[in-house]
Amino acid sequence: MNSLWSTSATVPPVDAPSLQEERMVELAIIGGGFIGLSTALHAAEIGCSVAAIEAGEIGYGASGRNGGQVNPGVKLDETALAARFGESGRGLYRLGQEAPDYLADLVARKNLRGSFRRTGVIRLTHNQRALATARSVAKDLRASGIAVEDLDAAEVKKRVGTARYPGGFFDPRGGSVHPLDLAREMARACKEAGVVLFANSPALSLQHRNGRWRIVTPGGALTARKVLVATNAYTDALLPGLAQSLLPVNSFQVATAPLGDLADRILPGEQTVYDSRRLILYFRKSPDGRLMLGGRASFSSSRNASDKVADYSVLEKVLHDIFPTARDVPITHHWTGLVGVTVDYLPHYHALPDDLHVMIGYNGRGVALSHRVGAWLGRKLAGKPERLEIPTTPIKPFPFHAWRETVLHLGMQWNRLLDVFGY
Ligand SMILES: Cc1cc2nc3c(=O)[nH]c(=O)nc-3n(C[C@H](O)[C@H](O)[C@H](O)COP(=O)(O)OP(=O)(O)OC[C@H]3O[C@@H](n4cnc5c(N)ncnc54)[C@H](O)[C@@H]3O)c2cc1C
Repeated sequence: MNSLWSTSATVPPVDAPSLQEERMVELAIIGGGFIGLSTALHAAEIGCSVAAIEAGEIGYGASGRNGGQVNPGVKLDETALAARFGESGRGLYRLGQEAPDYLADLVARKNLRGSFRRTGVIRLTHNQRALATARSVAKDLRASGIAVEDLDAAEVKKRVGTARYPGGFFDPRGGSVHPLDLAREMARACKEAGVVLFANSPALSLQHRNGRWRIVTPGGALTARKVLVATNAYTDALLPGLAQSLLPVNSFQVATAPLGDLADRILPGEQTVYDSRRLILYFRKSPDGRLMLGGRASFSSSRNASDKVADYSVLEKVLHDIFPTARDVPITHHWTGLVGVTVDYLPHYHALPDDLHVMIGYNGRGVALSHRVGAWLGRKLAGKPERLEIPTTPIKPFPFHAWRETVLHLGMQWNRLLDVFGY
């Protein structure tokens, strides 16, 4: 993985061997990303014996490749969630709202290196219609006590360094991390709490016999009373139907060389930014002063999409359009990762028989949320649940899953048109 994060990591890979033995634990976790690690840590902290296995290196999936934006919330508001799920919908909403504060506390409590910065997030609007919606969202957030600031075009120019947007708002709750360093530091914290971690140990099969689960890997096996499947968009055929319940969608990213003198004019306050387009764009500066920008350049669910040069040229054009002054700064990094998209844009928790649990699908907003949900889930699986619940749903196939490349390619073109024509 030649991402900016893998070349700029300051935390070395965690020492996690591949599983070469038979081991018995109370809770086995499949997937070494943020949700697997956070659940493992919080369960182990209250005395549960936990082992986690990861197919690649720790942080191999979305957790080690993402944009590192620490954003609050889930993609639906409290009224919509409560109407659909009742109290558990409010529980999920609350976890989303608390998530950035929770991550900040966790970073401080566990002394996690990961360049966590609480500089706020700017949401930009790409047209007047989106600006009107943003004004109303910002008003509601202010009414709930959050010090959100409206930004006009001049203020956007000052804070972001681009004249391309008519306005937006600033939300002080946001922040940023170096995601791969954070994943590695979470792994360190897990080990210190007693979690046994195995890298390069893909789960090949999962079977329930005599009251226990047995997970077989190429070199060994885990036996556990409880299992969490935390494989998100990298889900394979391990659990029947699970891979069909979400869409793995590539999000592409590019990063420039360090900005040098331009750094004072582009995001001088180091905020993270995302915009209101349907085909969302997000950007920020990296801890080492580069400009990075990401988005859905094309629809692809391939794990090898980093070879698609054309996708990156779309992003490079967008970057130069938003920041013409950065045109001469070379683009040094291109990479991609799979986002887990669900049909309702919500994370899915499946509580299956025999203490088999699944937590997947953050729809591109999991950096903060997966840490908070992992705390909730770890406590629950260790037998000390928090008072609140989140919705439990059955595993359902995503419509058109078998034709996803074609259908979503068409959907993307349609959304691009709507974005261009101001809807
Ligand atoms: C390019 C990109 C940019 C993003 N930007 C942001 C952002 O700026 N802000 C934000 O909030 N969110 C962002 N996200 C989303 C965020 O990264 C994810 O929501 C979060 O990392 C999900 O964590 P996870 O642990 O569920 O999944 P992952 O980190 O994907 O972990 C799943 C792991 O399971 C492993 N696995 C799969 N199958 C097996 C098996 N059979 N056996 C063992 N292991 C297995 C995989 O190797 C993988 O490492 C982005 C995502 C991507 C891809």
